[in-house]
Amino acid sequence: MRYSMTPEQTRQSRRAVLQAAVDTAAACATFTPDAFFREDGEQQITWQARRAEAIRVCIGCPVRAACEELALRDGDGRANVDDMVRGGLTGPELAAVRTRQADRLAAAIDADRDAEGQRLDDLTAELKRTVLKNPDKAGGHRGSRAQAEQNTQVQLLTDQIRVIRKARRTRAGWKAAA
Ligand code: SF4
Repeated sequence: MRYSMTPEQTRQSRRAVLQAAVDTAAACATFTPDAFFREDGEQQITWQARRAEAIRVCIGCPVRAACEELALRDGDGRANVDDMVRGGLTGPELAAVRTRQADRLAAAIDADRDAEGQRLDDLTAELKRTVLKNPDKAGGHRGSRAQAEQNTQVQLLTDQIRVIRKARRTRAGWKAAA
């Protein structure tokens, strides 16, 4: 499946849309993440060859624009450190784009956080509703199956909430739960 977004659509899309596109159609899905990162102490000549191959994969990737936008919003890439490829760009190239588009990215990241906060609220409300359901009403075997399904659903929601909270805390620089 080809997932193409115009550059303008990509710029305006919120994080969840970008991530869904990448999750669905990333050309690197079958590669190990190491293929896109320089190893500690790896010689420049070896990395150059691997880097060129990673960029080649990215150039043929149907979601490259979305991936680049996520990388920019994630703050990937450092100006003087040539150690990664994401969205078809090296770390220094990502850093340069981020500098050029600093104002736009700041607004996009704010919007991401708003959407994420809304998602967190929705998940928390759903968790409360799920916990308050009474599976005993189903009775007998159906009751125990309903209880098991409820437990699974609670676990799923709890895990999703934990992932979002952890990401928010990491961005805020909090190492421990607050
Ligand atoms: S652009 Fe490159 S790093 Fe991004 S999803 Fe595609 S292949 Fe992977």
